[in-house]
Amino acid sequence: MRVGHGFDAHRLVEGRPLVLGGVRVPFERGALGHSDGDALAHAIADALLGAAALPDLGARFPASDSRWKDADSMALLAQSAAAVREAGYAIGNVDATIVLDQPKLGGFTAEMRAKIASCLDLDASRVNVKAKRSEGMGYTGDGTGVAAYAVALLSESGVR
Ligand code: MG
Repeated sequence: MRVGHGFDAHRLVEGRPLVLGGVRVPFERGALGHSDGDALAHAIADALLGAAALPDLGARFPASDSRWKDADSMALLAQSAAAVREAGYAIGNVDATIVLDQPKLGGFTAEMRAKIASCLDLDASRVNVKAKRSEGMGYTGDGTGVAAYAVALLSESGVR
């Protein structure tokens, strides 16, 4: 078994969509980023890559490379999962937490979970997404930015 941890944060600005776990959340501001700024997808990808001790998302899809401009982060997540499987690991489960006070995300987490499970080719029972508030404190509390954390468990699949 191997455990991995991922973290990501993006600044929230006007004129950008707010995309989390592949779900477009209606809001007046969205995540600034070279890709679509999906902090949840990025945190999960880094947890998976980290568990396999592979180069992280930023190394794999550098912002300096125009190919990843406005990239669909769910495609980057799928590619990260494929790299983990190619390295000889099976994905056991993923657990993730988004931190953001506004907008309220509780009504969107089930759809995020389903999209992430589909993206990772996992049963939905192996994926969890939680939304937490930071009670007005810090950048996730005052709406300056969104943060996401994830852990992933891998097992050696025996295909190496
Ligand atoms: Mg990111």
